[in-house]
Amino acid sequence: MKRAHNFCAGPAALPTAVLERAQAEMLDWHGKGLSVMEMSHRSDEYVAIAEKAEQDLRELMNVPNHYKVLFMQGGASQQFAQIPLNLLPEGATADYVETGIWSKKAIEEGRRFGNVNVAASGKSLDYFAIPGQNDWQLTPDAAYLHYCSNETIGGVQFDWVPEVGDVPVVVDMSSDILSRPVDVSQFGMIYAGAQKNIGPSGLVVAIIREDLIGRARAICPTMLDYKTAADNGSMYNTPATYSWYLAGLVFEWVKEQGGVEAMARRNHAKQELLYSTIDASEFYSNPVSKNARSWMNVPFRLADERLDKAFLAGADARGLLNLKGHRSVGGMRASIYNATGLDAVEALVAYMAEFEKEHA
Ligand SMILES: *Cc1c(COP(=O)(O)O)cnc(C)c1O
Repeated sequence: MKRAHNFCAGPAALPTAVLERAQAEMLDWHGKGLSVMEMSHRSDEYVAIAEKAEQDLRELMNVPNHYKVLFMQGGASQQFAQIPLNLLPEGATADYVETGIWSKKAIEEGRRFGNVNVAASGKSLDYFAIPGQNDWQLTPDAAYLHYCSNETIGGVQFDWVPEVGDVPVVVDMSSDILSRPVDVSQFGMIYAGAQKNIGPSGLVVAIIREDLIGRARAICPTMLDYKTAADNGSMYNTPATYSWYLAGLVFEWVKEQGGVEAMARRNHAKQELLYSTIDASEFYSNPVSKNARSWMNVPFRLADERLDKAFLAGADARGLLNLKGHRSVGGMRASIYNATGLDAVEALVAYMAEFEKEHA
């Protein structure tokens, strides 16, 4: 069996050990004679799988007791509507920070439901930097502040958490959850589509402070009301059972690796190796300001874009997959989530050096 180094932005690489375990348990889960996919979500076995996944995530992120952990569907994008439907009362205003494509999508969707104030935008900085909070135009009594901690496409990441007093902070952490420690108590709500650092696509995990649950607008569909999920253990209807199970295997794996602190050490080493390779060369470049560079998604350009095709072909031939940049940005992008090890980054920088030597 050959496993390539997969730098895909999402759905992204999963730990080989997790896939092997899923494979071993596929046909006959723990001697029960059936796969997890074929179990009733109400069975004792499945409820134990689901509860363990939640418990492990709570442990990993040190989630306080007054927060609910919800496993829902529709990915992170559905949250762009679900958040205002639940948290933005009619006539109220929500503050949003625009730092790239994902936060912009959240803003556009939010506008369908009420007043959205773009408190700050990285637009004038070409989205290569994050405006400092001193320059934000905040609404004093905003319903919430929304931002994206890691812009997966632009490769721009907050290394700080906004402080807005009593206004609940809602964060899209889809592409950097579990990559380093965070203090959950600084947030009203954290959400993350699973396919970057958690598991299969389609699933979205949300961590919500309890006082923010039960405020949905009257028109909010039952399925989109956080209270429905919270009151029913995320099983009002049939949840994405297999994705939830796989997420649980990933949480166990992160615990075995030493938790988010260990992940942060590994991720720090990975990004340092890659950015220092880019910065040391005249051939490769990354435009993001140093204090906003993402540890998870590293976009980079070749000095001559006519070489892009050859670079990608050579990478493919070496089992370095999915390095093509997002269609809106061009160039290259290496996504180096938790499941992508330092060995993958070492293989990538070795190839980059080789390619530069040949073509510079
Ligand atoms: C991938 C991603 C999304 C969209 O996730 P879906 O599950 O496809 O809806 C939203 N925000 C960020 C930051 C992402 O990386």
